[in-house]
Amino acid sequence: MNKPLILVVEDDPSVRNLMTTTLKTHDYRYLTAFNGETAIMEASSHNPDIVLLDLGLPDLDGVEVIRRIRTWSNLPIIVISARSEDTDKIDALDAGADDYLTKPFSVDELLARIRVTQRRLGMLRQENAGNAVFVNGNLRVDYAAGCAYLGEKELHLTPIEYKLLCLLSQNVGKVLTHKMITQKIWGSSWDNDIASLRVFMATLRKKIEADPSSPQYIQTHVGVGYRMLRVDG
Ligand code: CA
Repeated sequence: MNKPLILVVEDDPSVRNLMTTTLKTHDYRYLTAFNGETAIMEASSHNPDIVLLDLGLPDLDGVEVIRRIRTWSNLPIIVISARSEDTDKIDALDAGADDYLTKPFSVDELLARIRVTQRRLGMLRQENAGNAVFVNGNLRVDYAAGCAYLGEKELHLTPIEYKLLCLLSQNVGKVLTHKMITQKIWGSSWDNDIASLRVFMATLRKKIEADPSSPQYIQTHVGVGYRMLRVDG
């Protein structure tokens, strides 16, 4: 298998060096870009497997870079930001980023995010190979039949719980914001919808998680949204 190619977009040389050194030691190939325009050019000409994108760039806002890349590509983008405010992360996720990392981050965290994204890519390829059944640990969703199972047992889900489960499973590994989810489920994103989402998420978790207070499948990102994690089967 080819080593994954990672595009590192970062204007701060010390952070950039930390990232490229880490990637090199862990057997990844990489390209670098110091600003948004170069990032977009490199992404379109080299078609990297993953983009690591700093949000605060000298020319363009990172969110704008995501919007532009999303006009022609679904390639995974992990946002790396010094800004710890949730709104920046949420804007980036709403624009189509897959995940985020807040500075300062550890090398282990960076590698873990890259691995989650690689696994997500692997699953997407499986599904594109014509697989209408999603399997994750004990969880199985048969999209064609409209049924979900935990082990051998069929789950009795309400229509909204089923829609939620489909949305999360179809985006496994990706953080979905509250706004993204409520738009897909209810077509709107009022505060009420977000409150309802919490309720439906709690009932869904009761049905799929062995211990809903420490969920294995659906991770909460406080103030941001939810993500389905890949679970070893
Ligand atoms: Ca920066």
